Amino acid sequence: MAVIMKGKPVADAIYEELQPMKSLNLTLGVIKYKDSDAGGYLSGLSKAAERLNVKLHISEVEQFTQLTEKVIALGDDPQIHGILLLKPFPKEWNFRQASDLIPPHKDVDALHPVNLGLLAQGRGKLVPATPQAVLSILDFYNVLPLEGANALVIGRSEAVGLPMFLCLMQRNATVTVAHSRTRDLPSLSSQADLVVVAVGKPNFLTSDHVKQGAVIVDVGTNVLEDGNKVVGDVHREQVEPLVSAITPVPGGVGSVTTACLFKNLFLCYQEQVR
Ligand code: NAP
Repeated sequence: MAVIMKGKPVADAIYEELQPMKSLNLTLGVIKYKDSDAGGYLSGLSKAAERLNVKLHISEVEQFTQLTEKVIALGDDPQIHGILLLKPFPKEWNFRQASDLIPPHKDVDALHPVNLGLLAQGRGKLVPATPQAVLSILDFYNVLPLEGANALVIGRSEAVGLPMFLCLMQRNATVTVAHSRTRDLPSLSSQADLVVVAVGKPNFLTSDHVKQGAVIVDVGTNVLEDGNKVVGDVHREQVEPLVSAITPVPGGVGSVTTACLFKNLFLCYQEQVR
């Protein structure tokens, strides 16, 4: 039977490690688009902030210029210890232009070119929260040695797939990255000891894709049409009986990602007082 790698115990262990944050009265600046509910993410963020005695300074913007001005203002404000741009923003906005304005030492998402560049060189202090969460889960459950493992990352986004590739490579896995132009995905995925899937399509990874006994991490977070149910990218009924370990959705990577975001806030603070 597969080990179900639930996120909660991993997140709890991270919050325990972050207890010293509680006395620091840190503030995380969050900027969101006025009409967005940020996919309900804000409520998870608020609960975690409360747990660590972190104040959320939430700003809502309606225009792109307001976004860039706000990023600059929070970047200059010594009372703000980290900045998070809470997606989604309107598609026509130049999100990268705004996110590049975040000072690297306040970049809790760790996606500023300086932070991503340092990560690529193997000297990143801040690691993007989602790949950090995936590694935390794999370390916590200790279900496979990463060194030498044949790992496949499906998805190459800057926030997930790309830094996931870097992190796994730095842990000495042999990593392949698949994306929408990859030919014959099942032939690649069925050889992998570890599959991390971050595509954003329900039931994308089926029994045709996996090797018996593989470890599967499902990053996908897909809200179904009725708006009430969240599912991952893995066809769980087909895949779970075949594999040795799998993360559930919901209850897997998501909650650990939030905990890792606060870990990054703590690291940002430490960098600011150095
Ligand atoms: P994204 O920016 O849309 O990237 C999706 C990636 O999937 C792209 O690289 C795309 O390839 C690839 N892809 C699309 N169709 C494919 C196919 N048929 N075969 C192989 N690859 C394919 O999304 P993202 O931000 O990385 O997020 C991915 C999923 O993870 C979403 O469901 C998101 O909600 C979820 N997510 C969860 C967490 C968490 O903490 N649990 C955090 C972040 C994101 P191309 O590059 O070729 O287009």
